[in-house]
Amino acid sequence: MSGLMHGKRGLVMGVANDHSIAWGIAKKLADSGAELGFTYQGEAFGRRVKPLAASLGSDFLIPCDVEDVASVDRVFETIKERWGRLDFLVHAIAFSDKTELKGRYADTTRENFVRTMVISCFSFTEIAKRAAAIMNPGGSMVTLTYGGSTRVMPNYNVMGVAKAALESSVRYLAMDFGLDDIRVNAISAGPVRTLAGAGIADARLMFNFQKRNSPLGRTVSIDEVGGTALYLLSNLSSGVTGEVHFVDSGYNIVSMPRLEELKDID
Ligand code: NAD
Repeated sequence: MSGLMHGKRGLVMGVANDHSIAWGIAKKLADSGAELGFTYQGEAFGRRVKPLAASLGSDFLIPCDVEDVASVDRVFETIKERWGRLDFLVHAIAFSDKTELKGRYADTTRENFVRTMVISCFSFTEIAKRAAAIMNPGGSMVTLTYGGSTRVMPNYNVMGVAKAALESSVRYLAMDFGLDDIRVNAISAGPVRTLAGAGIADARLMFNFQKRNSPLGRTVSIDEVGGTALYLLSNLSSGVTGEVHFVDSGYNIVSMPRLEELKDID
């Protein structure tokens, strides 16, 4: 795949550390010749992201908290000053109060519902609009979602509702930007052990359940998600837009656990 992204420049949002899904994506893009810029949320994350970015040959780091629209604007002003144009965007950002990522969805508070939607869903729309304004034809954007958007997963709660809205946004944005030859897709990743993933109650149980019951009998690595992102962000997928592409060892096709899992139920 070396050289696939040669001459392309893109922004990766959502690296917190070397376990982040965005990091798996960044590595694949850099291996294929892309030039990368990174955003980070606050100075503590900045200190972790800086050496990671440097290891991929990038010194282009911009602070961004998506709850602050001025900081989102500054990201795109900085890109315009340094690069002028953009070829691709990775949005791997989500947040919800972990006290509501357990128990019943019905108990979600108004405050956390709004905050979760703004950070985990609306931020993609706000960023995609700014990115599209400076994106070259043939450009591509990818966001990250999870199967809890369409099927009920224990404890995923308000994040599932936000992911459903995010996936719908992907389809509307694909239509908005399609005639400019800009594509918009989502990757629906299986469970991965990350900071964000650890916020969901009983994450370990869900991880192990999906591991045992997916067709491939395992979970996915950030490198595997990165490979799919590389495909969606490169010209290899030039006819693909508005899609939600699963990278979950096939778990989304399964309706029942493997029979061995059910031996106690009779
Ligand atoms: P992560 O904790 O490594 O990344 C989450 C990122 O969101 C962090 O970099 C964090 O700084 C950023 N973020 C949160 N609030 C922000 C804000 N206000 N402003 C700017 N950035 C903010 O975890 P991850 O699992 O790699 O998450 C990346 C994406 O992948 C998320 O959208 C997540 O929902 C999605 N996803 C994760 C899994 C999983 O099992 N880990 C599965 C499917 C989808």
